[in-house]
Amino acid sequence: MISLILLFILLTILLYLRLGKLLRVSFTRIKKSFETIELELDRLQDEKERAIKDNLNRAQNLEEKIALYNITRQVCKFLEEEKVFATFKEEMNKFMHVKDCVFIKLPANLDALVGYLVLPLEIEGKPVGYLAALGVPDDQKEKFHILAHQFMLGIKRVLLYQRIQELAITDSLTGTFSRRYYLERFSEELERSKRFNFKFAFLMVDIDRFKDCNDKYGHLVGDAILKEVAKVIKDNIRLIDSVGRYGGEEFLIILTETDLNGARFAAERIRQAMEMKRIRVYDEELRVTISIGISVFPDDADDMTHLIEKADRALYRAKQTGRNRVCVHGVYK
Ligand code: GH3
Ligand code: MG
Ligand code: MG
Repeated sequence: MISLILLFILLTILLYLRLGKLLRVSFTRIKKSFETIELELDRLQDEKERAIKDNLNRAQNLEEKIALYNITRQVCKFLEEEKVFATFKEEMNKFMHVKDCVFIKLPANLDALVGYLVLPLEIEGKPVGYLAALGVPDDQKEKFHILAHQFMLGIKRVLLYQRIQELAITDSLTGTFSRRYYLERFSEELERSKRFNFKFAFLMVDIDRFKDCNDKYGHLVGDAILKEVAKVIKDNIRLIDSVGRYGGEEFLIILTETDLNGARFAAERIRQAMEMKRIRVYDEELRVTISIGISVFPDDADDMTHLIEKADRALYRAKQTGRNRVCVHGVYK
């Protein structure tokens, strides 16, 4: 019995020693695994932080790029080169500082641009001008190229618009013939009148003190007045006559197969119609007058340049003698 008990005790001790060893080995292994996991956890944590930082940088970069590209919206608001360039410069200043920035249209002298970063502007493969900047920092060059690209888009839009305007038959504001087209019509009328021995009268119309209207009421009202004047002219000439906008606030009229008396009569009718017209602006009713100069083919001249020149001189006299009147070339009463 005693030996059985001793055997049991011995076996228990042996088992305990064996188990202890096994447990110690397992414990060491588990500890190592924990350490490895901890290291891995640290590594992942670092990676996560790096990824967050990268994302933040990317988001900032993206935002900046979007802001750079958004400039197109600002510069494309205008149809005048100066305004597009001024807006571009204003926007560029928000992103970087350069010593000088110029936009030069062809023909351009590039000698003065030594040291400038010069970017050519082309439309349909044809060089049109240059955008040049002085003192663009090296690390800002990519940004400058993006900005310049936005400017180029804006200026291309303006130049194409100008070209369309030039080619257009009608003036978009007044609906009268455009200057270029009108002068073509003028030549045709001249040829036709020469061939058939017809007379025709040429009238030059200028709004009186129009600058004051613009100054007092603003350009939008000025534009509305221009439209009204064009309408009054159209309403008071025959269908075979034609009217064109010479530029600014001047209109040209050709009265076909018309002599001096007929021209004077028609011009007086237009002048009076304008004088009677009330143009409603906000709460006010405006009155606008016009002055008219007349020359007659072939009595005063038989070519376009001289007919224009003589009507212009008569118009000048109408202005000098008080405005709101009709003057005829060579007739001083
Ligand atoms: P005058 O009686 O001597 O003709 O005086 P004026 O003020 O009409 O003449 P001036 O040539 O000094 O001014 C013409 C003005 O016409 C200047 C410009 O502001 C205005 N103008 C020219 N084109 C346009 C246009 O398309 N829209 C508007 N709103 N104004 C224009
Ligand atoms: Mg004028
Ligand atoms: Mg005027």
